[in-house]
Amino acid sequence: MIQSVAFIGLGAMGYRMASHLPKHFDTVYVWNRNFEKAKQHANEYGTQAVKLEQAVQADVIFSCLPTSTDVENLIESLQLKPGTIWVDCTSGVPDSARTLSETLKAQNVDYLDAPVSGQTIGAENATLTVMVGGDAAAFERAYPAMQAIGKLIKHVGTSGAGFAVKAVNNMLLAVNLWSVAEGFTALKAHGVNLNEALDCINASSGKSGVTETVLPQRVLNRSFPVTFALPLLAKDTGIALDLLQSAKLPAPVIGLTQSLIQAASATADENSDFSAAVKFYESWSKITLE
Ligand code: NDP
Repeated sequence: MIQSVAFIGLGAMGYRMASHLPKHFDTVYVWNRNFEKAKQHANEYGTQAVKLEQAVQADVIFSCLPTSTDVENLIESLQLKPGTIWVDCTSGVPDSARTLSETLKAQNVDYLDAPVSGQTIGAENATLTVMVGGDAAAFERAYPAMQAIGKLIKHVGTSGAGFAVKAVNNMLLAVNLWSVAEGFTALKAHGVNLNEALDCINASSGKSGVTETVLPQRVLNRSFPVTFALPLLAKDTGIALDLLQSAKLPAPVIGLTQSLIQAASATADENSDFSAAVKFYESWSKITLE
C-alpha cells in the first residue's frame, strides 16, 4: 500500500507529471534543483515542497532528469529507506539502470527504469506511455503510482529494458523526422502544395507521428515550440546507437541518423525544440518547409 510519493525534477515533463499525484495520494513531496519551481508546484497543486532528504523518505520516488548521469549523481549522495521503490522516468542508459538497480538492491530499495513517451501534452493529460524495466514484483507494487501519470504502463523486461525501448522509440522518431524533411523538401522543389501532400500522406501508408503532428503543428507553421529539447533527442539517438554497437549489429541508417541529429543539435540555437533538426536540413537544401 503506497502512503507517500515524491517527484524529483520538475522540468517540462516532471512539473506536469507530478501535478496528478495529489489526486491519488495524501502525501506528495516535490523537489527541484531550482527550488522556486518546487514551491510554485506546491502552491499550484497542493504538493509539499521539501528538502531532497525528506522527499526520498516517500514509499515511491519518481525522478525525471535529463540524463542517467544526473540521476546517478543524485542517488549517490542519498540515504534511502529500505522498501522504497525508485521509479526513474528519465530517458536514460540501460547499463546505468542495471548498475543502479544492483547498488540500490543492496539497500533493499528497488529501482525501476520507467521512461515515458507522449510529450508534454501527454504529461499534462496523464496519458503517457510508461515502459518499465526491472523487478516484476516491484513493478506491481509501483503500478498504482505509475497509473497516476500514464495510460499504457508496460513491464517490458529486466533492468535496462525500459530505457532500451525508449531509446529505440526516439531513434524511430528521429529517422522519421529526417526522412520527412527530405521527402517534403523534394515535394516543394517539384512545386507540390505541401498541405495537400500532407493530407494525402496522412491518409496513406507513409503516415507517422511526425506527419500527423510534428510537421503540421511545429514545422510548416514555423512555430518550433520548445517542449522537448533537441540535445535530449541527440542524447536518445546516441543511446540507441550504443545498443546496436554493443550487440555488434550493423547500423547504417541509425548510425547516420545519430550523426545528423548530433550535428543538428550542435549547430542549433541553444534552446531548440527537437523539431528544429529540420532547419539543419533546410540550411543544406536552401528550401524552407512552410
Ligand atoms: P527539462 O530540461 O525541462 O527538465 C530537466 C529537469 O531536471 C529540471 O527540473 C532540472 O532542474 C532538473 N535537473 C537538470 N540537471 C539536474 C541535476 N544535475 N541535478 C538535479 N536536477 C537536475 O527536461 P524534460 O522534462 O524535457 O526531460 C526530462 C527527461 O524526460 C529527459 O530524459 C527527456 O529525454 C525525457 N523526456 C522528455 C520529453 C519531452 O517532451 N520534454 C518526453 C519524454 C521524455 P532545474 O529546474 O533546476 O534546471
